[in-house]
Amino acid sequence: MINPFEFVLPTKIRYGAGILKVLGEELRLLKAKKVMIITDGGLVNAGMVKRIEEIIRTEGMKSIIYDEIEANPKDYNVEACAEKARVESVDTLLAFGGGSPIDAAKAVSVLVRQGGKVRDYKGKGKIKNDCLPLITIPTTAGTGSEITFSSVITDTKEKVKFTIKSTAIAAKTAIIDPELTLSVPPLITAATGIDALTHAIEGYTANCTEPIAEAVGLYAVEYISGNLEEAVKNGRNLAARDKMMMGSLMAGLSFSHADVASVHCMAEALGSLYDAPHGMCNAILLPYVMEYNLPAAVCKYARIARAMGIKEKDDYMAAVKGIGHIKKLSKEIGLPGIRSLNVNTDDFVLLAEMSEKNGSNNSNPRKITKDEYMALFYKAYYDCD
Ligand code: NAD
Repeated sequence: MINPFEFVLPTKIRYGAGILKVLGEELRLLKAKKVMIITDGGLVNAGMVKRIEEIIRTEGMKSIIYDEIEANPKDYNVEACAEKARVESVDTLLAFGGGSPIDAAKAVSVLVRQGGKVRDYKGKGKIKNDCLPLITIPTTAGTGSEITFSSVITDTKEKVKFTIKSTAIAAKTAIIDPELTLSVPPLITAATGIDALTHAIEGYTANCTEPIAEAVGLYAVEYISGNLEEAVKNGRNLAARDKMMMGSLMAGLSFSHADVASVHCMAEALGSLYDAPHGMCNAILLPYVMEYNLPAAVCKYARIARAMGIKEKDDYMAAVKGIGHIKKLSKEIGLPGIRSLNVNTDDFVLLAEMSEKNGSNNSNPRKITKDEYMALFYKAYYDCD
């Protein structure tokens, strides 16, 4: 029997190459008058935000830009941005960028209406259903944050990433245009792509998953694994970018309705302590967690392997080959191992503790404790060239 579950998707999705042109129409539907574009300095310097400003101006609306969102967005980024949105009396937020600006914008949407500090909203169920309306426009194919209900923020005092989880922070509309990812450099394409692959695999295999999350997760594996290398090596290939963007979207749908699991528990700990790119942390840890989980997930890992094109009848052998394939793929697309983060092995105890405390720890398909996390960090370390 299938366990009872709920499947809510509060975000309207508008997808396709060139779909950015519907932004004006979507802003009109929200009755926007003054829009805050939340982004990062890199995208402004690359000239990518100009087109957004132009569309808003053509609609006769006002816009201001907040471009100080850092990678692994910090609590102070969110609080400063919310303060500016309040002072400027903006009525609509538009997140433009990768997961960092999008996650920051979700948290800003809460603070502007409900006040307080961002850490007050940590966890599930802290938000009354009243947030500033948000449109998300992703420029990386990785996080799926444009349609998920979570916002991952770094608590700079505690040096820990925490998640705000609520359907109330979901965007009203996600405008997902793969053309916006044509400019993503190879290493960021690689890291964000493995982030999406990790979402797909963890969403499909999480303890709390359900058939819809499983279906989109498995299909996402096929899209991502079949196109990631091409997107990295030939970034102007729109067909590959298109499949990556759709893969990332489906992976986001999967994990937001199921959960992520131990790869994310470890990656978020690493990202918190070393301020390292999230996708890279996932890439470093994914095969090791899969090796650990194998005894509890042979059938599903075999299906993942087959979705990646591995032709092998025996489930166990297929699963093992699938894990090997992921290790090889990470290397081929230029992702480095854990030593590239200059980790200090003395930190592994703390990292293991942080991983165990993560809210997604219980979603891992195989029970895992602090000691096992520590062994996995060491394995990733000693296996690293
Ligand atoms: P990011 O947003 O930090 O961006 C990484 C870099 O890519 C930045 O320098 C940015 O300027 C650049 N960039 C973005 N788009 C570009 C483009 N089109 N062309 C050129 N450069 C571009 O990276 P990310 O991996 O997208 O997001 C990571 C964050 O998302 C982490 O904080 C992670 O915890 C979070 N996350 C959130 C969710 C969620 O559901 N809320 C899921 C996964 C990850």
